[in-house]
Amino acid sequence: AKQSGGDGFHFFDDDLERSAVAAAALEADLRVALAERQFTLHLQPQVDFATQEIQAAEALIRWNHPVRGFVQPNEFIGQAERSGMIVPMGLWVLEESCAILADWKTRPELSRLVLSVNVSARQFQSDDFVAQAMDVFRRTGVDPRRLKIELTESVMADHPQKVSVAMSQLKELGVTFSLDDFGTGYSSLSYLSTLPIDQLKIDRSFVSGIGQGARGLLICTATISLARSLNLTVVAEGVETEAEAHLLGDVHRCDLLQGYLFGRPMPRQDFEALCLRSPKG
Ligand code: C2E
Ligand code: CA
Ligand code: CA
Ligand code: CA
Repeated sequence: AKQSGGDGFHFFDDDLERSAVAAAALEADLRVALAERQFTLHLQPQVDFATQEIQAAEALIRWNHPVRGFVQPNEFIGQAERSGMIVPMGLWVLEESCAILADWKTRPELSRLVLSVNVSARQFQSDDFVAQAMDVFRRTGVDPRRLKIELTESVMADHPQKVSVAMSQLKELGVTFSLDDFGTGYSSLSYLSTLPIDQLKIDRSFVSGIGQGARGLLICTATISLARSLNLTVVAEGVETEAEAHLLGDVHRCDLLQGYLFGRPMPRQDFEALCLRSPKG
């Protein structure tokens, strides 16, 4: 609308107004969704390629909207972050994840699984996050070592000191940390030396197509050797083909692989069935 010359201003103004209205409507919808339990977590396996064992699952939020059906996170996470709704939503994700872990704890075949949970910068920076997490662990009896928190480096942008203290406190309980979307930001390397990170997660954009010898392979192998030398584990996301799995898993010894090749994000029951079917659970 901006390019429409003299009248452009009005168009642009309209657009802005419409999008502000849309944003407010979405925020109101998210509030309802949370109250009426329309969110659910789908689980996607993270596989130890050497043993073919499912070692962990990433929890990915889904919105089962009464009218629109399943709404994907890219349609609402951004607005949830801008409006602050991500904080109560994220708390729900943490509660639900620990409820799952508490149940797995009673089932020997599933009790060793790790659940990897996305925590947005805004939620992690909120003053209550550590206390809330401790409270959830206490109420559910979940061993914090079973919880992995995925953070992106945006978490370091605003309050690096505060974030680093919060990470250390959780790490003391046994929580582990994975640095998500690694390589897509600006100064990942400086964070690595100051933060108690356990794992690097190679972004899908570097993984796709490495089987065809694209530049992404260089980034993947560099990340894997960086992780090795820092004594971190490494997981690759977005593995879709046998060729990618072979290169990353067999040739370059990436610890964990995640992607459609091993399973799409799926309802919890399906994930559990998959674990029970697979070689060593
Ligand atoms: P992410 O953390 O980078 O999650 C990985 C995304 O890649 C997921 O998209 C997953 O479904 C998708 N994916 C996994 N394997 C493959 C593959 O082999 N091929 C392709 N093409 N895609 C694959 P999803 O579930 O749509 O989530 C999108 C983003 O939304 C996530 O990106 C994450 O940033 C955010 N998100 C999802 N759940 C939560 C949550 O509970 N809390 C927060 N704060 N953010 C979340
Ligand atoms: Ca993630
Ligand atoms: Ca990711
Ligand atoms: Ca990603």
